[in-house]
Amino acid sequence: MNSVKTNVDPAEQDKFDSIAASWWDPDGESRPLHDLNPARLAYIQERVELSGAMVTDVGCGGGILSESMASQGASVTGIDVAEKALAVAKLHLHESGCVVDYQRATAESWAEEHPASVGIVTCMEMLEHVPDPASVVAACAKMLTDDGQLFLSTLNRNAASFAIAILGGEYITSIIPKGTHQYDRFIKPSELCAWLRASGMRAREITGIHYSPLERTARTGGHVKVNYLVHAVKATACVPST
Ligand code: SAH
Repeated sequence: MNSVKTNVDPAEQDKFDSIAASWWDPDGESRPLHDLNPARLAYIQERVELSGAMVTDVGCGGGILSESMASQGASVTGIDVAEKALAVAKLHLHESGCVVDYQRATAESWAEEHPASVGIVTCMEMLEHVPDPASVVAACAKMLTDDGQLFLSTLNRNAASFAIAILGGEYITSIIPKGTHQYDRFIKPSELCAWLRASGMRAREITGIHYSPLERTARTGGHVKVNYLVHAVKATACVPST
């Protein structure tokens, strides 16, 4: 793995490697990601044309989002640091018949070697697992072409997100393995927007993701108190040409 900068928490890497085998079990430890995926894929599809697009999926894990975008005709590269999760992602391609190029890399090292290489970057449920999320946001921006679009999702930091994502998800319902999330790594939308601005990008839209674990459905829209999506574009794309 190339590492321009080590922005990896080894405990996080071990955590995702340890659940690798069950990544594609819709009732297993990655169940929330399976349940969230149709809503987040629809959100992306409503904003960009995936068919024929070049996409880099940062922190792709076992490839739930990567494969779903590939199945819509995108040419997807999935990058992650967790070796076992990537091995599972590659194996699953044999089962699904999807084509995804999986690479072991940090966001930063990949951006360094592939600047301005794709029109779409996705980075979902990953920023809250890294020591320096601002650095990942900057790397995502660097991978994008001038008209590129970035889709991020993460967890807000407040009493509601603590109660729902950690107490509810990990301790009361046990839908998410205990220790998956650390509250102090959750990210306020204002912080994420500041990192985007520092990376030459602007948030075009911030919207909530609402997960109903009992019904096993998710929808986008509404408040952003817990899980939320950000659609960002390069700042230059926001300035009207004169
Ligand atoms: N984006 C996927 C997986 C989310 S789980 C989805 O939403 O379906 C978070 C993933 O981020 C894990 O696979 C973990 O290995 C990865 N990750 C954590 N730190 C990372 C880093 N510094 N660089 C790249 N991936 C990282």
